[in-house]
Amino acid sequence: MGTRMGTRAAPNVPPVEGKTPGSRHGRMPRVARAEMTQSKLVHSGELSERRIRRQLLVWYEERGRELPWRAAQRGAAQDRPDPYAILVSEAMLQQTQVATVVQYFRRFMTRFPTLEMLAEADEQEVLQLWQGLGYYRRARHLHAAARVIAHQFGGSVPADTKHLEQLPGVGRYTAGAVASIAFGKRAAILDGNVARVLARLLAVREPVDEPTTRTQLWSHADALVSPTQPGDFNQALMDLGAMVCTPRHPQCRECPLHTECRAYMLGLANQLPVRGRRAKVQPAVHSVVALRHGDRYLFEQRASKGLWSNMWQLPTLEAPTESSGRGLADWVWERFDSAPRALELQGEFRHRTTHRAIRFVVFDAPLHASPSPVRPGLLWRTLGDIGDLPLPNPQHRAIALLRDDSRQLRLPTD
Ligand code: SF4
Repeated sequence: MGTRMGTRAAPNVPPVEGKTPGSRHGRMPRVARAEMTQSKLVHSGELSERRIRRQLLVWYEERGRELPWRAAQRGAAQDRPDPYAILVSEAMLQQTQVATVVQYFRRFMTRFPTLEMLAEADEQEVLQLWQGLGYYRRARHLHAAARVIAHQFGGSVPADTKHLEQLPGVGRYTAGAVASIAFGKRAAILDGNVARVLARLLAVREPVDEPTTRTQLWSHADALVSPTQPGDFNQALMDLGAMVCTPRHPQCRECPLHTECRAYMLGLANQLPVRGRRAKVQPAVHSVVALRHGDRYLFEQRASKGLWSNMWQLPTLEAPTESSGRGLADWVWERFDSAPRALELQGEFRHRTTHRAIRFVVFDAPLHASPSPVRPGLLWRTLGDIGDLPLPNPQHRAIALLRDDSRQLRLPTD
């Protein structure tokens, strides 16, 4: 690297080539004497791809995270994990921290241990298991992908990125992750974490979320991925981004790549990556009107398209601004042909989605009588009997407020 300002020894700088320590992953260290001999030394700019691979793979042998989906599949060749488990984990890991995903993954795999079982499952049960993870479209896509694999690929997750990218919800990143980790194919990955690591490693000063920069980063990722251990290499990049090259305060002195990293050498690690201007987030007010008859509440199923599609909720008026008590009462009358006796404010909270900043305002709304007849898509349930209903996270928070009746404030409805 021409701009390199000398190498520095860090406490965990890997030992010299060939003296790799024992592995925490239960496999023999195999960092890449093969890398050293088989891989052509190619430079992207002046980065030494060979050195980066070697140092990263040694670090991964020592420090890589032990995660349930990384366990080798029983009887699998070359200690590879179950492709179905990798597909599930990658769907869950989009936009979600590993620590959160681990418990959901275990629960999901206990209920649907095989792809066939997931393919045959009812969507409502899949959504119900996904509750709390958010971004429910991932669950629908995963379910749809399982069905496509069952019907079009004979029940086996395809091994190559071309076929993987034909599955619902599987883009270039997920296809690369599955192909490399589960099948040992040389395929790159690039998500937000990896983009951050590469942008620092190469001192990319252009916004990483712009398409041209993204294309460049994909080229670097393609060139960099190990030809002999692509799965380990990609997982090492994921782990480095999560544990060392973190969004704030990257731990460069602990980093196995600090001798190769341009951002570190230029003192730019904390300034990179640069991001473009984000799309404006729209404000909204969602008024949850919990229609209650005795101890039973009315739940409605959301539309089959859009945010939280097909999930269940307490009746909720979605508006750009706050609605008056009279406005809410009229809305209830038009929609459910019923009038609440009162609207008792239970509390409020805020919830962010990708494009919206939503204020949820929650009312308990006792009715004189339950509306009848109840249409399809409506259910009366007690709050202790909703375990089978997939509810979006804000609805769980609204229900928690309903269970705590210590903060009531009565609003006029006329
Ligand atoms: S040296 Fe610092 S900025 Fe560079 S890759 Fe490592 S942690 Fe990230």
